[in-house]
Amino acid sequence: MEKDLGREIMEMRECYRNGNTKPMSWRRSQLQALRSFLQDYEVPIFRALNLDLGKHYVEAFRDEVGLLKKSVNLALNDLKRWMTSTGAKLPIIALLSSAELVPEPLGLVLVISPWNFPLGLSLEPLIGAIAAGNAVVLKPSELAPACSSLLANTLPKYLDNQAIKVFEGGPAVGQQLLQQKWDKIFFTGSAKVGRIVMSEAAKNLTPVTLELGEKCPAVLDSLSWSFDKEVAIKRIIGAKYGSCAGQACISIDYVLVEKSFSSTVVDMMKAMIKTMYGDNPRESHSVARIINKHHFLRLKNLITDPNVKDCIVFGGSMDEDNLYIEPTILVNPPLESAIMTEEIFGPLLPIITLDKIEDSIDFIKKRPKPLAVYAFTKNEDLRKRMVSETSSGSVVFNDAIVQFAADTIPFGGIGESGMGKYHGKFTFDTFTHYKAVARRSFFTDFWYRFPPWNNHKLEL
Ligand code: NAD
Repeated sequence: MEKDLGREIMEMRECYRNGNTKPMSWRRSQLQALRSFLQDYEVPIFRALNLDLGKHYVEAFRDEVGLLKKSVNLALNDLKRWMTSTGAKLPIIALLSSAELVPEPLGLVLVISPWNFPLGLSLEPLIGAIAAGNAVVLKPSELAPACSSLLANTLPKYLDNQAIKVFEGGPAVGQQLLQQKWDKIFFTGSAKVGRIVMSEAAKNLTPVTLELGEKCPAVLDSLSWSFDKEVAIKRIIGAKYGSCAGQACISIDYVLVEKSFSSTVVDMMKAMIKTMYGDNPRESHSVARIINKHHFLRLKNLITDPNVKDCIVFGGSMDEDNLYIEPTILVNPPLESAIMTEEIFGPLLPIITLDKIEDSIDFIKKRPKPLAVYAFTKNEDLRKRMVSETSSGSVVFNDAIVQFAADTIPFGGIGESGMGKYHGKFTFDTFTHYKAVARRSFFTDFWYRFPPWNNHKLEL
């Protein structure tokens, strides 16, 4: 296996060196083929996402297929502009000159993706890597086997197999791939594996993008208008339970509210869960399933912890056979318990009460930098402080998760939530080297640029 893998990768490098992936025509044809795949395989994709994660097809379209179609269309529309060199100025000392930034592909790149958005987080980077003219190896997650095999069996029918390959497998295959030489590794997953990726990459000085996780807080101010409260609760509940049942890197991990507002919040959340998922959310087909038994038990342990279980104020029921956990709300679990120190990644929502909502700034600052900070508030001063005093991949006011759908702002983490950014043109940039090219005329030089040195030259 290892030998075959190594040989295949060597052949791909050869293909890249031959310049096969650089022409705009190749990039365009691959992007068009990817678009056809998304079109032709829409229903099998929905089926695979349902098999792996119990995602409803509407959610699968909103979070994966729809966004991918948007991204591939954007890349096709803007490809020519993205590939065009941009001019730059040189200093006066280089009189009669011109300069430009020439985008060139990085080479042979590796994309390793996770299980929670197994199509979206595999193909979103792939789109940018192809648009930038790279040869690409994709390794999807073994924990979403239906999606992984769909990609491995179907993409070769659409894409240039010499330059784009899918390698299926788990950590062992991931490790074998990391032993190879790459020109870039784009990894989405846990911080634990992110560290392994980065240390393996360091051996070849390979640049990495690490899209990791962390606990994303949502600050919920005591909004005075009932309309605003209603909208905030709807968006929080929709974002938390309605996007892969909280198994999303930018899911709301916990909510910070003022003590005096917390019982209203809990009542409104309970009512909103009923509105969105009915009396029995399990039967609603709108709550995705937990990916596997390991993660189910991990989540179960978080809420059966003797110090935490009495904090449950809603939900808490579980069905191990069907990997289902009811949307669950907790109030004030101990801050040192696992549910408040580890990324939850599931349909459990702790509410932490504070004396004043302004205390949320300190609360967030004391913890690792999250991928996103959400704040539902009309308080302009609080908004300003949230942006200037906390650090995170992004800040979103009065909504959650929507930033993922944007291709005009970069998506990525900082500190323990990752490094590097992508989406839209940022994905193209992530897989591109902007080569500085400077040109001078042979005509005219400032004489004081050259030795011999003397004080007179310094005074000029
Ligand atoms: P993971 O780190 O366990 O696995 C991610 C990928 O790495 C998989 O393809 C897996 O097979 C591979 N892998 C595992 N061990 C490896 C090893 N030793 N060597 C090489 N490859 C290895 O992560 P996961 O459980 O699939 O995903 C959950 C995590 O991903 C969460 O922490 C979540 O926050 C994060 N995440 C981040 C984003 C983002 O965009 N920032 C998106 C989704 C998920």
